Order: sequence, then structure tokens, then C-alpha cells
Amino acid sequence: MLKTIAGFDRIGEENAFAVLARATQLASEGRDIINLGIGQPDFKTPSHIVEAAIKALRDGHHGYTPATGILPLREAVCADLHKRVGAEVNPDNVVIVPGGKVTMFMAILMFGEPGREILYPDPGFPIYRSMIEFTGAKPVPIPIREENDFAFSAEETLSLINDRTSLIILNSPANPTGGVTPRAEIETLVKGLAAFPDVAIMSDEIYAQMTYDGMEHVSLLGFEELRDRLILLDGWSKTYAMTGWRLGYSVWPDALIDKARKLSVNAWSCVNAPTQFAGIAALTGPQDEARAMVAEFDKRRKVVVEGLNALPNVTCRTPLGAFYAFPNIKATGWKAKQLASALLEEAGVAVIGGPDFGILGEGYIRLSYANSTENILRALKRMEEFLAANSKA
Ligand code: PLP
Repeated sequence: MLKTIAGFDRIGEENAFAVLARATQLASEGRDIINLGIGQPDFKTPSHIVEAAIKALRDGHHGYTPATGILPLREAVCADLHKRVGAEVNPDNVVIVPGGKVTMFMAILMFGEPGREILYPDPGFPIYRSMIEFTGAKPVPIPIREENDFAFSAEETLSLINDRTSLIILNSPANPTGGVTPRAEIETLVKGLAAFPDVAIMSDEIYAQMTYDGMEHVSLLGFEELRDRLILLDGWSKTYAMTGWRLGYSVWPDALIDKARKLSVNAWSCVNAPTQFAGIAALTGPQDEARAMVAEFDKRRKVVVEGLNALPNVTCRTPLGAFYAFPNIKATGWKAKQLASALLEEAGVAVIGGPDFGILGEGYIRLSYANSTENILRALKRMEEFLAANSKA
């Protein structure tokens, strides 16, 4: 018998991909499926970005690049961070990685082992917990509560830290809730963290540029006092509709940058070269398409929230970021995963059950509004008919 390490008995996955596979299968059998399951923009990558990759290929950029990424791209990342956050970042502290996800993989590998504890948001992106479990560290959920508009609580987060805590994972704007944590809460957290100087922080800010109703995104990178232990996760996937390109970046503190570089050399050598040129074009080129995409999400957000609140026994807070709605379905009497499955199989609407994002996700489902308004309205109609005919309340 082949004996892999124990971590593989614990590693999880992202059920959104399984739902996508099932939705695709049903569609290939001729069913009309509306997909509100997967978390990726339904827009094409802006054409000047695509052209930059094509040009890079034609110009002969076919070889390895430095493991941490080409310097002009790391410089573009720093310029962008300076413009958006006001932070001074040295390109030597930036690592270009194949997708935003890779930064969490690296950070959790660096800080997780049996006997340690890692804090992560629940409900939250499922890979956090999966990777923590893989390393043998103890996953400690930071409860993300509806009554708090799905922002994290500084006080609750601080109360979970002990001398075994090695890493805290934070995510705002958040998946799956669309919650955005306000400045005051983040400032309280940063102040409280001063008492725990040996704890690293990984801030997942992949949805940084998707906030609504004037809500401000507060980057942890803006807090000088955290810079010696902050790992920033960001990337191109969501902002520039580039999920399939596999391009992300992280900012590492001086104490960790060489470890991050070595991990990159061991695992992927470098991100594919033309994609890195596309990344430069995205950051330095016109931003109008990226902005128009957010404006379109904003319109759909209003349609989704209004439609969900009109469904029998469903309530939905107004999400202030990302492109997800996380309605409360407790009063329908349905268990969330069963409802998600029934909606797909019987009503042809793909959504994700809240428990796929953590124990505290029970009683909620996640809808991604990265789909046309027309499809969103059709999906809401189908959900209304389904719930009217299948009440368990
Ligand atoms: N972080 C969060 C909170 C996400 O929702 C996602 C993708 O859904 C990622 C990171 C990973 O992004 P990427 O596709 O760039 O790996």
C-alpha cells in the first residue's frame, strides 16, 4: 500500500469546483442551468492585457524569469500599492505567484505544524482551513457574524490568541459573505496585536478593489507597526477578470522573504513569463474596464439583494464588497447544503451551501452575482417558485 503523509487524510478542497463540474454536466445533458456558484467575474480580460501577453510571446519571452517575478512587474505592484494604500513597498519584498491562492498555501506551510494554532475566518475561503489541517496545526475559527454585517470583530479575534498562535488569517472584503470590515474595527485589532509581536498576520485582500456604497477598503499594509510580520495576499484574478491566467502576488516582511523565494524555487521556478507581462499591462494601463466591471457588479448586487429579500423566509444583508450575497435561509426550514443541491438538481440554479465555507455557514447559501442581470432575475424567479412549492418551514 502507498503511504502518503497523514496530512492527506485531512486536506479538504473547494466545493465550488464540484458544483461547477455538476452544473456543467447537467448543462451538457441539455438542462438550462444558471450558474451563481463559481466565484469568478463573467467578463473577459481587458484586451490591452491580452495583447501584452501576446506581444511578450512574440518578443521571445519564453524562458524562466527570476523566481520572485520580473522586476518591472514587482515595481508595478509597488507603484500600485503606493497609489492605492499609500504604502512604501520595496520590490525585493514582493513575490509573484501563480494565483492568489498560492500565497495562503505558502504562508500556512510556513507557520503550520502540530502544536501550533492558526486563526482563520469562519465562514471563510475553504482553503484556509484545509491547508491548516494539512499542516497538522489546530484551526481556530474567527466567527464572522451576520449581526456584525459579516465584518470580523477585533475583540473576538484578539480573545482567540494564545501562546500557541502562529498566524492569523484575515479577509476583507470577504468571500463568501461580501462583508467589509470598517476602519475602526481594523484599528482596534492592530492596536491589540501589539501585545502579540510573535504572531504573523496574513491579510487576504484579493477583493480590495471591489467595495460599494462608498465603503472604504482598509489595507493592513497601511499600518507601519505590522509591516515586520504582515503577509499581504493580492492578485489579478478578480480585479482584472484573470482567474484563468493564474497570477497573484504577495508582499512579505524582511524576515520571511527569503523563505518565500526558496519555496517558489522549489515548487514552480517562476510564473509563466507572458502572464507576467500581462500583469504589468493590467497595473499600468487604463483602469476603466476594471472600474466598469465593479459598477456593473454594483447594479447586480442591488438586484440580487432585493430579489433575495422578496423570497419567502429568506433575508439578505446588503454586502458591501466582493461579488457575493450570503442570504440567511434558516426560516425556510432547509439545511443549507440540501437546499443548494435541490436548487441545482430541481430548479437549475447553482449556488453554494454555507457549510462549504465553515461550520458557521449553516443556515446560509452563497450566491455569486458574477452573472448577467437577466440570468440573476431568472434564477431568483426559479428560487421563488422552488421555495413556494417546497417549504419546510
Ligand atoms: N482569496 C479569496 C478570499 C478568494 O475568494 C479567492 C478565489 O476565489 C482567492 C483568494 C484565490 O484567488 P486566485 O484565483 O487568484 O488563486
